[in-house]
Amino acid sequence: PARFARLRIAGFKSFADATTIDILPGLTGIVGPNGCGKSNVVDALRWAMGEASAKSLRGGEMDDVIFAGTMARPARSLAEVAVILTETAGLAPAPFQAEPELEISRKIERGSGSLYRVNGRETRARDVATLFADLASGARSSALISQGKISALVNARPEERRAVLEEAAGITGLHSRRHEAELK
Ligand code: ATP
Ligand code: MG
Repeated sequence: PARFARLRIAGFKSFADATTIDILPGLTGIVGPNGCGKSNVVDALRWAMGEASAKSLRGGEMDDVIFAGTMARPARSLAEVAVILTETAGLAPAPFQAEPELEISRKIERGSGSLYRVNGRETRARDVATLFADLASGARSSALISQGKISALVNARPEERRAVLEEAAGITGLHSRRHEAELK
């Protein structure tokens, strides 16, 4: 199965400078003192995977993901995050079926919205959503449960929990494609 291999973060939240994080096979832990940016790493991953809600990224509007500056450094005008997946051959949609690695990147410039690329090629947000749905690791899948969301899942109504489980099972993409087909 496909797996996360690397995350490149630049200008996103507290990551003012370009930072590369290798994600090795097996269990990964992120440790550090309060406020050091652990959750920002996970936010970066979810953002690059297509998260559309600024609120669920703990911001007011999407531009809030851009490095806002500190006493010592000026704000940046651009944020970019790339997720590198490996072992994707045969799993990705056309025209990427044969690619052993996929690099999905998202870039935002203050005031002008997001731009997605897959292996350097400009891509629509919905195609990125479909790609991750197909790889069974959608932006809100069970693999990405943020701080405080466990109790929300436990307390959810059955239909809401079903939606979460369907996304985890990788069948959300099928539903949205079926819906598109019905509209035609
Ligand atoms: P905890 O252990 O409390 O969960 P954490 O390691 O998860 O902490 P984060 O929430 O990832 O910490 O990081 C919080 C820090 O990120 C704060 O210092 C905040 O100021 C900084 N931050 C968030 N958004 C931005 C931004 N747009 N620009 C600069 N810094 C930001
Ligand atoms: Mg945190």
